[in-house]
Amino acid sequence: MDLTDNVDSIQRRINAACSRSKRDPASVTLMAVSKGQTPEMVRAAADAGITLFGESKVQEARIKIGQCPPRLRWQMIGHLQSNKARDAVHFFEMIQSIDSLSLAVEINRCADRSAKTMPVLLEVNMAGESTKFGFRPDQLVAELSAINDLKKIEIHGLMTIAPWTPDPEKVRPIFQRMAGLKTRCEEILGAPLPHLSMGMSGDFEIAIEEGSTLVRIGTALFGPRARPAAK
Ligand SMILES: *Cc1c(COP(=O)(O)O)cnc(C)c1O
Repeated sequence: MDLTDNVDSIQRRINAACSRSKRDPASVTLMAVSKGQTPEMVRAAADAGITLFGESKVQEARIKIGQCPPRLRWQMIGHLQSNKARDAVHFFEMIQSIDSLSLAVEINRCADRSAKTMPVLLEVNMAGESTKFGFRPDQLVAELSAINDLKKIEIHGLMTIAPWTPDPEKVRPIFQRMAGLKTRCEEILGAPLPHLSMGMSGDFEIAIEEGSTLVRIGTALFGPRARPAAK
């Protein structure tokens, strides 16, 4: 399996979106979403130059990580049950899917026990979809200081999954509101947040135009997933 052409074409589209919005392409990180993909596919992506991978299930990730080259970086992007928090802290360099204060408390406790500090992103359910996890924007603003008080968690920014639509222009306002919410959070914290993780295969160019620093690409890179992977 040679994924070089796919990686090149995605990188060209990232560069074009950056030049449209007068951004430095180095300010956008490409994550390969490898949920539902085999270790062979991960290796093919790594051979094509990808170093950062996203997984949505702890159990699937822990098996896969053990079968992949050790130099790769792994981040959690799926909903995390608190009984998986300890493994998540162990296996991932960052958890992008902190979707409640109680999960943040649990991650903090596990990180403390492992003598670690855990970088996290806070997931926002911007469109209020009942099928998605994440903080409501007003709830995030209300609970941000409490999360920030957790000593073994480092807030690196926000993450969102935009509603699915065949016309990605439709979700541009969601991305714009996310950028605004990040600014609001920076004001509350009195510190800059480096990451705004938004944009997937269908909408990453629009997300970049609106300030994304990290795009999470699955199907545009690997093709359709062999088996369905839960979020
Ligand atoms: C599956 C998934 C992606 C990748 O989706 P594609 O449309 O295949 O690019 C990105 N982010 C999250 C949180 C996901 O669960």
